Amino acid sequence: MKNDHIPTFKENVDAFVLKASKALKLSDDLIDHIRTTHSVLQVNVGIKIKNKIENFTGWRAVHSEHRLPSKGGIRYSADVNQDETEALAALMTYKCAVVDIPFGGSKGSLKIDPKKYSEQELKSITHIYAEKLIKKGFLSPAINVPAPDVGTGEREMVWIMDAYKNLFPNDINYLACVTGKPIAYGGIRGRAQATGRGVEESIREYLRHEQLYKRTKLNPNLSKNTIVIQGFGKVGKSLAEELFTRDHAKIIAIGEYNGYLYNEKGIDIALLLKHFDKTKNFKNFKGAKFIEKPADVLTIACDILIPAAMESVINRANVNEIKTKLIVEAANGPVTYNADEILHKKGIDVLPDIYVNSGGVVVSYFEWVKNITHVRFGRLQRRYEENKMNELIQVIEDATGRSIPEKYKNNVIHGAQEIDLVNSGLEDVMRETFKEILKNMKNLKKVSLRTAAYAIALNKLKQYHKDMGVSNAH
Ligand code: NAD
Repeated sequence: MKNDHIPTFKENVDAFVLKASKALKLSDDLIDHIRTTHSVLQVNVGIKIKNKIENFTGWRAVHSEHRLPSKGGIRYSADVNQDETEALAALMTYKCAVVDIPFGGSKGSLKIDPKKYSEQELKSITHIYAEKLIKKGFLSPAINVPAPDVGTGEREMVWIMDAYKNLFPNDINYLACVTGKPIAYGGIRGRAQATGRGVEESIREYLRHEQLYKRTKLNPNLSKNTIVIQGFGKVGKSLAEELFTRDHAKIIAIGEYNGYLYNEKGIDIALLLKHFDKTKNFKNFKGAKFIEKPADVLTIACDILIPAAMESVINRANVNEIKTKLIVEAANGPVTYNADEILHKKGIDVLPDIYVNSGGVVVSYFEWVKNITHVRFGRLQRRYEENKMNELIQVIEDATGRSIPEKYKNNVIHGAQEIDLVNSGLEDVMRETFKEILKNMKNLKKVSLRTAAYAIALNKLKQYHKDMGVSNAH
């Protein structure tokens, strides 16, 4: 890319795609076709609030519908624009292809600062936005299925589902029109934690491979590495919690939009969660120092740096200040193309977004399958499994004349519930995909983890276009 031009988010994503396509020697016309957004809908949500008409611009971009439904979150932020929405939609296509989830890629956004509006106002705004997408064919269980992203959550997903159900009460699959719903409205256990847990699984997997952790000089024991996280929203919070409780990780700093917390001995995440849930702020937390320089969190010396907030935060301007060994892209697009090139040359590994944060869409897929099959995972077989294991234990005890201690018995007997199956499926995807990435790295020689991940996606998309063809001019 030229030196004087600051690339847009979509241009950055395209640059990563082009780099991988060169490594694979794909033809220019095919790659142009693959990377181009299929369709974009722009809507205006006009609504009277406190006796004044307000207008909010929204988009829903469909990057690819080679598999249906197309899948991707909805973002509420004052900073969104069409380019960003298209970039995020494209990332969804590549992400689903990398982790082998049978969805196309899409993304939606609404230009609004949700903090400025009441719950009732947001509900009405969301209803209008959703109705517009539904009526134009950009939202349905079969064609296009949103999920939460920045500024939206379970609450908005229920409102969207409600809007769809009101318009199509005869659709038996109405629950599947959106994922990331609360359990009571067809959600699935583990979805709220899925993205964070997937990020954690990606780090665990990296540290299982000697050739990687030796090269970057990380300690294979996760708890022995210092970690910095930017962002304490849905992804950052659940990630910090998983790392703290399951890996005893030493998280020395966490950033938010107004500053960051620092404690060189490690932050007690359980205490921080209690404080943050009560105050919605890092200020006055006793367990760490609060420094009101939000951007500086990225340049703290650490072993693993995890941007989990926004795109393009590691860029040409600050890349040379980064003092870490591994960057784990929990956010979408946090490292720009130019910064990525520099990091690669410096030997700092970057675990790419299209793999790292895929846990959200993986478990969204499980939720969608649950919704269209109308049965909870584990419901049919759990008791059957438990009874069989009970019988087996009885046989062993009778044959040996010894009884098995209760603590082992309970673990062995426990039949798989929904949460067990979801977490097992997620772990499997993260581990198997990592192996694929490493295989591609080896085959393509000297490419980064990111290029290897894109290569998986592009090979699948290439195969699809070969099988299905692209329309010929007549
Ligand atoms: P969120 O809105 O729940 O949280 C984002 C957090 O980042 C907020 O707490 C916000 O205050 C903070 N933030 C904003 N600007 C910041 C800044 N300059 N410095 C530090 N913190 C800042 O959003 P989320 O769902 O956690 O998404 C975070 C990132 O992860 C986004 O890039 C999103 O696209 C990506 N992602 C989310 C999911 C998901 O399941 N939610 C899945 C895949 C990827």
